[in-house]
Amino acid sequence: MSFLTNLFKRSGSTRNPATTDPIRSQAPRIYSRGEHSVSRRYISEGALKVLYRLNNAGFKAYLVGGAVRDILLERLPKDFDIATNAHPEEIRDLFRNSRLIGRRFRLAHVRFGREIIEVATFRAGHDGDEDGASINDGGRILRDNVYGELHDDVWRRDFTVNALYYDINDFSIVDYVGGVEDITHRRLRLIGDPALRYREDPVRMLRAIRFASKLDFDVDDATLEAFDRYGDLLKEIAPARLFDESLKMFHSGHGLKTFESLHETGLFAHLFPQAAQTFEPDPHSYNLVIESMRNTDQRLADDKSVNPAFIFAAILWGALQARFSSLIADDVNEIEAFSMAADDVISEQVRRVAIPRRFTTVAREIWLFQSRLCRPTRKRADKLLDHPRFRAAYDFLLLRARAGEPLSDIAQWWTDLQDTDDDGRETMLATLHQPAKKNHRRSRSPRRKSAD
Ligand code: ATP
Ligand code: MG
Repeated sequence: MSFLTNLFKRSGSTRNPATTDPIRSQAPRIYSRGEHSVSRRYISEGALKVLYRLNNAGFKAYLVGGAVRDILLERLPKDFDIATNAHPEEIRDLFRNSRLIGRRFRLAHVRFGREIIEVATFRAGHDGDEDGASINDGGRILRDNVYGELHDDVWRRDFTVNALYYDINDFSIVDYVGGVEDITHRRLRLIGDPALRYREDPVRMLRAIRFASKLDFDVDDATLEAFDRYGDLLKEIAPARLFDESLKMFHSGHGLKTFESLHETGLFAHLFPQAAQTFEPDPHSYNLVIESMRNTDQRLADDKSVNPAFIFAAILWGALQARFSSLIADDVNEIEAFSMAADDVISEQVRRVAIPRRFTTVAREIWLFQSRLCRPTRKRADKLLDHPRFRAAYDFLLLRARAGEPLSDIAQWWTDLQDTDDDGRETMLATLHQPAKKNHRRSRSPRRKSAD
């Protein structure tokens, strides 16, 4: 059963008037220490230090967001976010090990060794005209630095399950939006009117998919329905932010599920338009993304390292092939066609999702190795085996075979070559013929189809 059908299955009757039409002054439900499972035992030392120091300095301090949600779900929090009424400069003055970051959303990072605690000042609603605020004509929040109190901040958060505040003062949980109940029923609900909230920040659609996949939650109808209408707004988001979000989506250990629902909701095409276009004419390219997500999830589950270049190489493989074929059809020689196709596909992609060069370089190498792996020569095979990128390129070849490309024999040959001893390897290599000296076709400038 597809993930999306799964998402819809249990949803429908999950609307809570308190969150679809918030009455801002309503009293919160307070869960006292005895009524919930969040214990300081599960909170990192760094986060506790920040909470206590803020509190001792006379500020309010709450653990909020993913950490509270994850502890209630008996999951290990990924990181710790703190909300306070201290202003960014006050936070910076309290912690020598802190720095202020972000323009759109200013907050403090407090560092303890490798751990970074995010400390954000309570936000208040605004119409874009106040100091520190800015909203564009479409309703997107460009700057969100108007400060308020907890009862203002709660409505600025994205999902009910992310809007629970653990009070370091009395260890209670403050819940204005029915988040604890939603956690119990495993449902993901956006706070407020989806149209408004997605226009304010379209990345919330990606976050909805990410959390539903990671937590195995149902998404309520209203939260999902707006995707069709607002997916296009992702175009307006900074490509660097979309890269960060893509990394989180595909490298959280639930990449396959996330990808499937991104695809089914149509959001994937807004992030990777070239790739999405190849899925239908070339089902292998779709299968390759599935296989690479499955592979990455498995590696993460086994505590193995993953290089993000691999996933991006897989996502763009179909687009690379399509571009390459059209250049070959235009009489460009293979070497040049490969290089141009890789350049074209990457440069078009990074305008949408800014994959950093250190990853696109590796993706290119993985691609470049594919033709070499598929046509091994005696001289080349030895060299390839020793190359630092061999492993990734070989894994990529295996996944292509698994995705249905007719490569099982050659993939098996490379597997055998690595498994055998020196003599065996010598015998295998001896069976490879040396390529006859090729008459390389002279490179020609491509004739663009449109120019014909
Ligand atoms: P993760 O486990 O991925 O860290 P998280 O819920 O903690 O999940 P963060 O990105 O760390 O997510 O953000 C911390 C909190 O800040 C969220 O729980 C949410 O309350 C709020 N938040 C983050 N991004 C947004 C957003 N785009 N719109 C509204 N609220 C947001
Ligand atoms: Mg977090």
